[in-house]
Amino acid sequence: MSDKQSTNFAPVAVLRQTEYNRAEILARLNEQADAIGLRADAYAGKRVVIKPNLVAPTKPDGAATTHPVFLSAVVDFLRAHGATDLLLAESPGGIYSESTLKLNYKTCGIADAAAACDLPLNFDTTANTVNAPNGQACRAFSVITPIRDADVIVDLCRLKSHSLTKMSAAVKNLFGVIPGIRKFEMHSAYPALPVFSEMIVDLCQMLNETHEMLAICDAIVGMEGNGPTGGDPKTIGAVLMSKSPFCLDLAAEAILGFEGTISITEAAKARGLCPESLDKLDIRGVSPKEITVADFREPDATRKTFLGSLSTMFGGRLADFFAPRPFITNRCVGCGVCAESCPRKVIGMIEKSGKKRASIRHSDCIRCFCCQELCPFHAIDIKQNPLVKFLH
Ligand code: SF4
Ligand code: SF4
Repeated sequence: MSDKQSTNFAPVAVLRQTEYNRAEILARLNEQADAIGLRADAYAGKRVVIKPNLVAPTKPDGAATTHPVFLSAVVDFLRAHGATDLLLAESPGGIYSESTLKLNYKTCGIADAAAACDLPLNFDTTANTVNAPNGQACRAFSVITPIRDADVIVDLCRLKSHSLTKMSAAVKNLFGVIPGIRKFEMHSAYPALPVFSEMIVDLCQMLNETHEMLAICDAIVGMEGNGPTGGDPKTIGAVLMSKSPFCLDLAAEAILGFEGTISITEAAKARGLCPESLDKLDIRGVSPKEITVADFREPDATRKTFLGSLSTMFGGRLADFFAPRPFITNRCVGCGVCAESCPRKVIGMIEKSGKKRASIRHSDCIRCFCCQELCPFHAIDIKQNPLVKFLH
């Protein structure tokens, strides 16, 4: 990376914040906007669309989705910076329909928060093909209409662990601009993590090239363990802001102690979309290293094991054998959501003692963990091959 390139990267503002207090969060956001040079009328006359994280209909305290108080502060902040034409739009996991949007907005506490601050919510479920001429893995994406038509995308993410990508922050959050089950098709078309990561970077790069972008990360309480929906809330105590989702993610991974291990960030670095290391990132405020959560738990699926490393030494031939897999537990109530969301259609419903439950055909599973992400009952665990435990 040349010195010239490194000076061109967007700064990232990082500040401490430990409570979901609307006035305090607004104050942090205003300080950060000043720090990154955002003008007071930055959003006047522009169509501003907030893209939250509403991956599944879960309560805000579970830390899987955008916190309603944080959203209210972001709306205050955008209005204070001239925005008059605001909309919230998201395509959650699963089917993209008016009824599923209603359910998500209500359960996640977004409907009430939006009503209280007069923020319109999107119910248009159309989508359009948008070309990504600079894409390396994918050159055309299906994108939900309000995002395509926005002047400004506010990428409002929550800092979480993720069973497939290890971390979900600003870049991964943008996967939710792809409508409903088209996301499962993308998992199927890009099954391995390296190529999936390239595809996500293509998507984020295309959105950056076609829209003005502001990434804001709620890292007040994030999620550790088996995120993005099955993990546990973890107090982190920070708010991040940048005009570049790639640069924001570079700071975010340092906060989680994941430096240099996030495949999406590594792909972005290789394309020169963010600096190659944290020390070349322009941080305004508190250093991410000062906030680093020492004991942050990564997902079971991404934990490195002795045998996992050994398997890569044999050209990866044993990797499949030793890789962690999804398993249905006794918590399964047979609702069928996982079977609908599996991109490879390897989940069937079986009847046992008069009760329905899911069953996975592991031989064709690509380990995308969509099933675990979308199971409303957290009934899918990620388990190592038992031989790994035995030989440890
Ligand atoms: S594993 Fe979860 S999503 Fe699948 S059928 Fe059972 S309860 Fe439903
Ligand atoms: S069973 Fe689960 S992890 Fe395997 S392909 Fe289907 S959704 Fe992905």
